[in-house]
Amino acid sequence: MNPKTRIPTNGSGTKDRQIVITGAGGFIGGALVHYFHDNGFVRIRAVDKKPLPEWYQRVPGVESLSLDVSTEENSVRACEGATEVYNLAADMGGMGFIERYRIECLRSVLINTHMIEAAYRAGAERYFFSSSACAYNVELQKDPQARALRESDAYPAMAERGYGWEKLISEMFCQEYWAERSLKTFIARFHNVYGPCGTWEGGREKAPAAIARKVIEAKYEGSGEIDIWGDGSQTRSFMFIDDCVRGIDLIMHCEELISTPINLGSHELISVDDLVSMVEEIAQVKLERRYDLTAPRGVGGRNSDNTLIKSILGWEPSTPFREGMRKTYEWIEEQYRLREARAEKESPLRLSAATYSLSEENQLANSPPLRGEGQGAVEFGPS
Ligand code: NAD
Repeated sequence: MNPKTRIPTNGSGTKDRQIVITGAGGFIGGALVHYFHDNGFVRIRAVDKKPLPEWYQRVPGVESLSLDVSTEENSVRACEGATEVYNLAADMGGMGFIERYRIECLRSVLINTHMIEAAYRAGAERYFFSSSACAYNVELQKDPQARALRESDAYPAMAERGYGWEKLISEMFCQEYWAERSLKTFIARFHNVYGPCGTWEGGREKAPAAIARKVIEAKYEGSGEIDIWGDGSQTRSFMFIDDCVRGIDLIMHCEELISTPINLGSHELISVDDLVSMVEEIAQVKLERRYDLTAPRGVGGRNSDNTLIKSILGWEPSTPFREGMRKTYEWIEEQYRLREARAEKESPLRLSAATYSLSEENQLANSPPLRGEGQGAVEFGPS
């Protein structure tokens, strides 16, 4: 084993240091709160602008605040007494969202601007920023078989419009706070993260969750078809959430990585078409594919070069994609069933085409119109 894997995680201090995590009502922030809580940390402050009932995960015993940290005042409140600050708050989503809402993505610069200043003023020892592979030069990512991206590939800069540029400028803030003010900052460029307890419907979901949901809908609703954005040849690598939170901890507590953007991603490359086949296998269905060439498809290919992380930490994300995807699929299938059961309960007369019997159909045909019928009562949400 590489001796570097023995780098102590969570730093070497006591477990009552004040940890602040923003974006905690979202996917990665929520998982990070869980991770530190499970590792025995007792002073965790979880912050998100969403109302508390909408958070994906709430951990009992953790201070949870509903605060919009794009303002100075709220960032100061979030960072009170902080020793370590993990900023995972951002207005973001999958390709459909970041191509359509560039202004919202750019405005996330307010979050990091106020949070890093507030962390500095609060006397925090360490500050973590969640950057993205979208910060890389898009010119290098046209070909589905493009070589994996090295950290130096961000410059000369030609980041993804909106979202990617916000990440690059926020990275620069982190580097200057170290250079001018000696705040220890850490910057991870995440490559697509997936797993349970993330966005799976509504328009902000990313490819693994979107494809799992579409396959589940086709399976339960019997359509036999799936819509795919682009021609299916685009390639990506996907990192399982457990690897992501472990990587954040390792990076945040490695002195060699202060102010140094580093890839945090899997290097297992897969095309969208192969991803669909994998999910079909898990679901045990075979669907007809319809390619939407007008839909947002993002860059042609993107992979993570893990040379730096392996050489510094002796570690890299390693959960096999199939294994992580199975867990993710099972979680989304459960959410789908819960959603359907809720809708059923709210509208008791709503009958699923796949389940109602012929005799029921005949009875309905002879009945007077029912309340809710013909008013969009059979709704399965956005596709
Ligand atoms: P997410 O959307 O699930 O979580 C982000 C959370 O931030 C949301 O709950 C949102 O309500 C919150 N938020 C947004 N604006 C806020 C504000 N002004 N104040 C307080 N909270 C606010 O996204 P995620 O997947 O958990 O991403 C976390 C971080 O990782 C983001 O910075 C994102 O850009 C980055 N990232 C994620 C991925 C990925 O594949 N998920 C890839 C690259 C980078």
